Amino acid sequence: MSASHVQIAELIEVSLDDITIPPGNHRQDLGDLNGLAESIRTIGLVQPITVRQRDAGGYELVAGQRRLAAARLAGLSTVPAVVRGYADVESRKAMAMENLNRKDLEPLEAAAAYQELLDLGIASEEVAALAGTSAQQVSDHTSLLSLPRKVRRELAGGAIDYQTALLLTQLADTPERLTRALHNTRDGSSLTSAVQHELHARELDRKTESSRVELEQRGVPIIERPRESFSPRARVRRLGNGWGCIPLTQAKHAREACHAAYIEEHTGDIVFVCIDVQRHVGVVPGIQAPADAKAERAAKRSERQAQR
Ligand SMILES: [Zn+2]
Repeated sequence: MSASHVQIAELIEVSLDDITIPPGNHRQDLGDLNGLAESIRTIGLVQPITVRQRDAGGYELVAGQRRLAAARLAGLSTVPAVVRGYADVESRKAMAMENLNRKDLEPLEAAAAYQELLDLGIASEEVAALAGTSAQQVSDHTSLLSLPRKVRRELAGGAIDYQTALLLTQLADTPERLTRALHNTRDGSSLTSAVQHELHARELDRKTESSRVELEQRGVPIIERPRESFSPRARVRRLGNGWGCIPLTQAKHAREACHAAYIEEHTGDIVFVCIDVQRHVGVVPGIQAPADAKAERAAKRSERQAQR
């Protein structure tokens, strides 16, 4: 055998019973095989399938699942096959590529094929280049795989379209919000706004939670948002330089027993407060001292009594 023969893949006739389809194959729907089967009956299988030899004996399909199924339907017992000495990785790669080359590929099938290539350790840019698409398309499609099974079924069944599914992937890690967005959409509002609403609410939840954790770690007591914290007469007041605030920095006030905070419900932000402003009378200017005023009134009263 000359060296050049080694390079050429072997073309053989393989019994259908000797061909197994590896679990890595993602082709869910082979479509209508009747036309192809009819053509195979008439002129035979023109394009050979691709297989590789299994260590356990027999062959594993690398490419051509649709042709193989049509050949079976046409009543063939053997098919022409190119035998490749592919490594396992290469055969899975070829299988994924074969799937991606279909024109009628469903989004989830494309997603599974992209994921297969990514799982083989191929970088997403390379996957995109192999598939003749963009890295964004690859990432959009694979994100569909994070959707709850129910939503994936709806996508596969055509109950929701690709764009809708893509929008919902943003809520994939909070299935209860995803379900709510979908439910609200069915009540007539647009899906975009329903998803936006849930994303916003989720963001607020996360920020509120992280604020709470931060305060707990710093040992700052958390109080309810006071109904009135801006009035100069309020006992609880915000720290800072705004109107009605106590002009103390949070760092300075943190050492005080009157230091606390609340979490702003519409933003999740932390607002530091003093819960007993009278502790700062005489130290912080502009704080009235009711205790002193009382003493003053008492003094005036006794003064008046003394004058009688
Ligand atoms: Zn204070």
